Amino acid sequence: MTNQAGPYFDLQVERVIDETHDARSFVLTIPQELEATFAYRAGQFLTFGVPLGDHHLVRCYSLASCPETESEHKVTVKRIDDGRISNWFNENVEAGHTLHVMKPAGHFCLADRQTPLVFFGAGSGITPIASLIKTALATTKRRLHLVYANRDADSVIFSTELQALAAQYPDRFELTHRLDDVDGFLDVPAAQKIVAADPGADFYICGPGVFMDVVEAALAAGSVAEEQIFI
Ligand SMILES: Cc1cc2nc3c(=O)[nH]c(=O)nc-3n(C[C@H](O)[C@H](O)[C@H](O)COP(=O)(O)OP(=O)(O)OC[C@H]3O[C@@H](n4cnc5c(N)ncnc54)[C@H](O)[C@@H]3O)c2cc1C
Repeated sequence: MTNQAGPYFDLQVERVIDETHDARSFVLTIPQELEATFAYRAGQFLTFGVPLGDHHLVRCYSLASCPETESEHKVTVKRIDDGRISNWFNENVEAGHTLHVMKPAGHFCLADRQTPLVFFGAGSGITPIASLIKTALATTKRRLHLVYANRDADSVIFSTELQALAAQYPDRFELTHRLDDVDGFLDVPAAQKIVAADPGADFYICGPGVFMDVVEAALAAGSVAEEQIFI
């Protein structure tokens, strides 16, 4: 593994933020000489190489920060039951820790359009979506609707930040929480209603497989064109 010549670069953790009982954010320090390498677009992710025992494991985490309005690079990691690296991050990584990180990558980004945006996010799927929402609010006039599914109120990552954005942009940003313990799982008819309210929108989906299947079925039922769908 190389240090500052790629593909992995050594980056220090500047601070750690407790988001919920099972998710923490990690703000990374980008040295001046790596600023261009680590420039990113909202929706992109970083790839981390983690030496664990005899293994070198590789995991991706999306940037939840906003490249246009926030100077920091922040990823948020939610624990998965028995997950090796998500638990390693949550238990072992503190400020000052050095991580091996590849430069930003990914195409889950905003298209150059002015149509409305509808985001379906679930659990840690909110991380790239949070970045896309902050960028769309700051750099476009697009109308946004976020449908955000979580197990319960205590599991909602970025709850305060999203609430504040909804209050700041009441005419442009609609925030709909769906809590499994109150509303049940999102189903196809419920997702279809949301899709039907904005048939010309661009739709962004990020969450567990079953959640994405439900939304994709609703988009298919609504005959939404492929180029309007980002997964
Ligand atoms: C582009 C991208 C962006 C992502 N962004 C984020 C993000 O922003 N935040 C976030 O939290 N996550 C994100 N993820 C998911 C993340 O990369 C990891 O997949 C996640 O953290 C789980 O990794 P882990 O090492 O903890 O779990 P793993 O150890 O890989 O385990 C995953 C699951 O598999 C099961 N499992 C493991 N080994 C076995 C085995 N031998 N037999 C049977 N079952 C087994 C475990 O029980 C667990 O349920 C992203 C993924 C991608 C691809």
